[in-house]
Amino acid sequence: MSKDIQQAGEERRFLDYAPAPESRDIVRLRPSYGLFIDGDWVDGHGAPFTTIDPSTEAPLAEIAVADEADVALAVAAARRAYDKVWSRMPGAERGKYLFRIARLVQERARELAVAESLDNGKPIKESRDVDVPLVAAWFFYYAGWADKLDYAGLGASPRALGVAGQVIPWNFPLLMLAWKIAPALAAGNTVVLKPAETTPLTALLFADICRQAGLPAGVVNIVTGAGETGRALVRAEVDKVAFTGSTAVGREIAKAIAGTEKRATLELGGKAANIVFDDAPIDQAIEGVVNGIFFNQGHVCCAGSRLLVQESIHDELVDRLKQRLTTLRLGSPLDKNTDIGAINSAEQLERIRRLSELGEAEGAERWSAPCAIPEQGFWFAPTIFTNVSTSSTIAREEIFGPVLSVLTFRTPAEAVAKANNTPYGLSAGIWSDKGSKILAVADRLRAGVIWANTFNRFDPASPFGGYKESGYGREGGRHGLTAYLKAGAR
Ligand code: NAP
Ligand code: MG
Repeated sequence: MSKDIQQAGEERRFLDYAPAPESRDIVRLRPSYGLFIDGDWVDGHGAPFTTIDPSTEAPLAEIAVADEADVALAVAAARRAYDKVWSRMPGAERGKYLFRIARLVQERARELAVAESLDNGKPIKESRDVDVPLVAAWFFYYAGWADKLDYAGLGASPRALGVAGQVIPWNFPLLMLAWKIAPALAAGNTVVLKPAETTPLTALLFADICRQAGLPAGVVNIVTGAGETGRALVRAEVDKVAFTGSTAVGREIAKAIAGTEKRATLELGGKAANIVFDDAPIDQAIEGVVNGIFFNQGHVCCAGSRLLVQESIHDELVDRLKQRLTTLRLGSPLDKNTDIGAINSAEQLERIRRLSELGEAEGAERWSAPCAIPEQGFWFAPTIFTNVSTSSTIAREEIFGPVLSVLTFRTPAEAVAKANNTPYGLSAGIWSDKGSKILAVADRLRAGVIWANTFNRFDPASPFGGYKESGYGREGGRHGLTAYLKAGAR
């Protein structure tokens, strides 16, 4: 076994590609950014911070911090824009703005992709081929809904909620912005959005796109800052809170808005099972497992972080998986050949390290792909844990990094029981040659999204969201639209 893996490693070095860096000249970053409120850039009253490139730790730009008063100003601007302009505009007109934004995202796609990779650390081939195209797709999709709200399933003339306060994480900064802003605007709401502290840049570039699209002032407001700014936004005079992030913060938000009229959508963590049966197309399954956990360095809420493999094929599958991992290229996010980019922050790296050490201490067997780790920046080699028991911490807690825990099962019933044995329920994957088996197993899994013989597929028309501690409400599709609507007055 180890001989094959070693050989694969040598072959990789022999076939190594020359560097193919994407130029960063297309992104003209300003030295500092303010808050985007009421269509203008204004200073924040908190102490500004510097956002860095996690692959080099080099500073990128200074970012303003919104305090409670700044957040209140942004919410007031959104309220005025809602009352005076956006709620009165016919849906077809709102749709035109959304179409314009979608086209501008396409026109500025390279710039957005490079900025995203710089600020987040994700490989350019992912930001270029996945994140940014999906952002455009989300705006195109919801643009089409803006004049068809009567068919959203809430009866004739449903109404917008008003002002939405939206808080998003750092793993898909611009895509999470699109998931939040596109349905909100299509339904006729105005928004105040807070991007994550470590990845504010693409949201600030998006503010510029709103200006370019001629979007009326105050319809979209961007307030930057850390957790405190998010907390202030949740408590401000908003009609809806839309949050994507950790279960701990989701719980705090649910408490903060309990007893108020505020609506909420909470998209939280996950610990998805990727179930591989012995009749699965094995090469395809290996690619799916790799994509499931190593895409975006595993910083994916619906990542297939628990591999459940049928016992009879365990050794073969693990062996081939290790061989495949030796061919992944870890390095500069802007290199077009890079498969594994940087971990987004020192804190996240620390968390991945701590949980991995715990995995070893609890008796699981650790294997990391042999790859050179750059000296600067935050990195973690693709890692597999075998001999993981269901009670092990790394089988239960979300690691949010490039770390896979492998467990085994013998029967479909055992696979289902193990897959459901988690406080989460966001997604799952099933690999089998038999359609009937896939349907029977999918029926018994408590997860919001189930992929069959594929993984991590996203489409704006398809609802996404979780069971149990993965949150409540759905984003995407008609369901995601109704989360920003209430039934019309009769
Ligand atoms: P996080 O710590 O919960 O942060 C998410 C956002 O909330 C950030 O903008 C954060 O600000 C802000 N925030 C922090 N404390 C807050 C508070 N008390 N009140 C209001 N806002 C607050 O999560 P994260 O570590 O950034 O993201 C990783 C987590 O998100 C993972 O658990 C992952 O599974 C989950 N996630 C879920 C989905 C989904 O769709 N279900 C998608 C992506 C990620 P700062 O970061 O600036 O401090
Ligand atoms: Mg950054």
